[in-house]
Amino acid sequence: MDVPAALGSHARPSADQPGAGQRVGVLAVQGAFDAHRRVLGRLGAEVVEVRRPEDVDHLDALVLPGGESTTISKMLEFNGLFEPLGAALRGGLRALGTCAGMIVLAGAILDGRADQRCLGALDIDVRRNAFGRQRDSFETDLDIAGIGPEPFPAVFIRAPVVARVGPGVEVLARLPDDHGAGAGEPVLCRAGHVLVAAFHPELSEDDRLHRLLLAEI
Ligand code: GLN
Repeated sequence: MDVPAALGSHARPSADQPGAGQRVGVLAVQGAFDAHRRVLGRLGAEVVEVRRPEDVDHLDALVLPGGESTTISKMLEFNGLFEPLGAALRGGLRALGTCAGMIVLAGAILDGRADQRCLGALDIDVRRNAFGRQRDSFETDLDIAGIGPEPFPAVFIRAPVVARVGPGVEVLARLPDDHGAGAGEPVLCRAGHVLVAAFHPELSEDDRLHRLLLAEI
């Protein structure tokens, strides 16, 4: 049967569908992966839920969602995913980690559990639950370098911050100077093909970071 050129493996990226023709994994062992799946699907990507080592094969990009990083770490261990994910990331797989996903991609977790592992995909140290109970969850507009002048409505939920940024890591956004706790701290960083956000871009109506994953990094 003939398949129209706009469908299937011949799909071409366009402004509306920058994900067309791309196979994008969403780590689905725990946490908020469904909202990412929907955004990526809307942008034309073929979305694969990643739960087992073989799911990592042949991906063009990967999203590591928010959730609970200690549980995600345990599940990665349990499902034998640390090695294949580490190898794919070292091999240049584009990745977007959000909130707990940022913690899992980090080089070091300052206050993780003793047995909590991370992938070391970029040279940052992160501090979990950095905003304490009072500001457990909040929304704030961020100026993000390289995605246009419109502020990005960023939703933070028991969010980490980036406590140290190593050489070769670019800070794309910081909390506003008038933010109070955490003012000026980096909350969006990029090292080559790896992008990490302390917030949840999948919960805003704004898909510019998912577009960045699909188009540029
Ligand atoms: N506090 C969580 C953790 O340490 C992250 C919260 C989130 O992903 N929304 O993993």
